Amino acid sequence: MRKASRSEGEPVAPGDRCPTLARREFSRAQKVAMIKRAMTGAGQILCEGCGLNVTGKVIEFDHVIAEALVLDKSVALTIADGLVLGRDCCHRAPGGKTAHDLADIAEAKRREARHLGIRTRPRLRAAGFAATEPQRSASRPLVKPAAWRRDDREAHHPLDQDDLP
Ligand SMILES: [Zn+2]
Repeated sequence: MRKASRSEGEPVAPGDRCPTLARREFSRAQKVAMIKRAMTGAGQILCEGCGLNVTGKVIEFDHVIAEALVLDKSVALTIADGLVLGRDCCHRAPGGKTAHDLADIAEAKRREARHLGIRTRPRLRAAGFAATEPQRSASRPLVKPAAWRRDDREAHHPLDQDDLP
């Protein structure tokens, strides 16, 4: 049996917009092999993430290493690069694989931007605004007597002194 000269799945157009980010996909044959791997002897498909019976449920072929994090996409995918995951139990669930992948991808992008010297968050303090002095309200000496101080001074004099000549 001769090998198919054309690739299965999505054709990779020459001059793709961003060839380095071209996502590799599992071939149909690989997906079949992965489902067989996830299948029990009784013909049930078990999620390869949590073991849930996902027969008849939506399953997805997860890339163990998110494609966006794969630097060398010239290496062909194998079925060892993928897992059969239930979409709702493991793949798209909050805190599931996709959520973790997106966090990893975001961190990788931030790291790359830092490496290239691109500041993603502008510094709030622009040039020309010096740091303010600390207020030190509690320890700062008083510059003028407060009204209560005069009351306080009178209170120190006994009332009978007011009657003295
Ligand atoms: Zn699962």
